[in-house]
Amino acid sequence: ETQDGVHEVTVTPVGERVVLAFEDHSALAQMDQMRRDFVANVSHELRTPLTAMIGFIETLQGPAKEDTRARERFLGIMAREAERMNRLVRDLLHLSRVEAEERVRPSDEVDLAALTRSAAAMLKPVAEEGRVTIRLEGTDTPVLLRADSDQMMQVLSNLIENAVKYGSPPGATVTARIARENGPRGPLLRLSVSDQGEGIDAQHLPRLTERFYRVDSHRSREKGGTGLGLAIVKHIISRHRGRLIIESEKGKGSRFSMLLPLD
Ligand code: ADP
Repeated sequence: ETQDGVHEVTVTPVGERVVLAFEDHSALAQMDQMRRDFVANVSHELRTPLTAMIGFIETLQGPAKEDTRARERFLGIMAREAERMNRLVRDLLHLSRVEAEERVRPSDEVDLAALTRSAAAMLKPVAEEGRVTIRLEGTDTPVLLRADSDQMMQVLSNLIENAVKYGSPPGATVTARIARENGPRGPLLRLSVSDQGEGIDAQHLPRLTERFYRVDSHRSREKGGTGLGLAIVKHIISRHRGRLIIESEKGKGSRFSMLLPLD
C-alpha cells in the first residue's frame, strides 16, 4: 500500500526468477466510481422532469379531463419539462462529442474577435430581457488562432450566458474582452468574461467545472441550466491546450478567463 492508495502486486515465478507486477487500483477504482456517479446523476436529472410529466398526464387523463384552464396550465408545464430534458440530452451529446475529440488537434483558422462579437449578438436579447449590457473590448480587429470554430462559439456563448444569467442584476454590464499577454511559456491570448453579479463563494470554485455541480441547484434549474455547461467548456479549452481560470468575489462579481497559447 502506498500513500495515494492500494496497489495490487502479483507475484509470478518464472523459472528461477520471480516477476512482480504492480497495478494501480486506486486510479482505476476512482474512474469506476466517477462513471457510476455520472450514470446516477444523468438518471436522476432525466427522471425528475419525466416524473413531473407522468404526473401531469395522469391528472389530465383523470381529474382535470374537462377543466380547460387546468389543461392549458399543465400543458405549459409539460412543455417546459420536455424542453429541459431536450437541453440535457443536447448537452450530454455535446459532452461526449467533445470528450471523443479531445486528442484531435483543431485545425481551422478562426477569428476569435468575430466569434466573440457573434456570441454577444446572439445573447443580446437574453441580456436585454434582464436589462444587462454586454460590452466588448479588443474585438475590433481580427484575432486569428487555430481552433474549432463551433466549439469556441460554445465556450463564448456559455460564459457570456452564465454571466448574464447568474452574474447580473438589472443595469449591470458584462464585459467580454480579448487581450494578448506574455505567459511563462510564450505569448498567449486571454479571453475573459467579467460580470458584476453575485459572485461565487471560494469553496465552490474548484468544483465548478465538474459535471452537474451547481452552487444552487434550484436556481440553476429555474434558469434552464443543465449543470454541464462549464464541464463542456473545460474539455473544449483543454483540447485547445488552454486553461480556464475562475476568479470571483462573493457579492462583487466573477471573471472567467480562457488562456490560449498563441504558438
Ligand atoms: P448551469 O447549467 O447550471 O448553468 P454551468 O456548468 O454552466 O451549469 O455552471 C455551473 C454553476 O456555476 C452554475 O449552476 C452556477 O451556480 C455557477 N456559475 C456559473 N457561472 C457563474 C457566474 N458568472 N456567476 C455566478 N455563478 C456562476
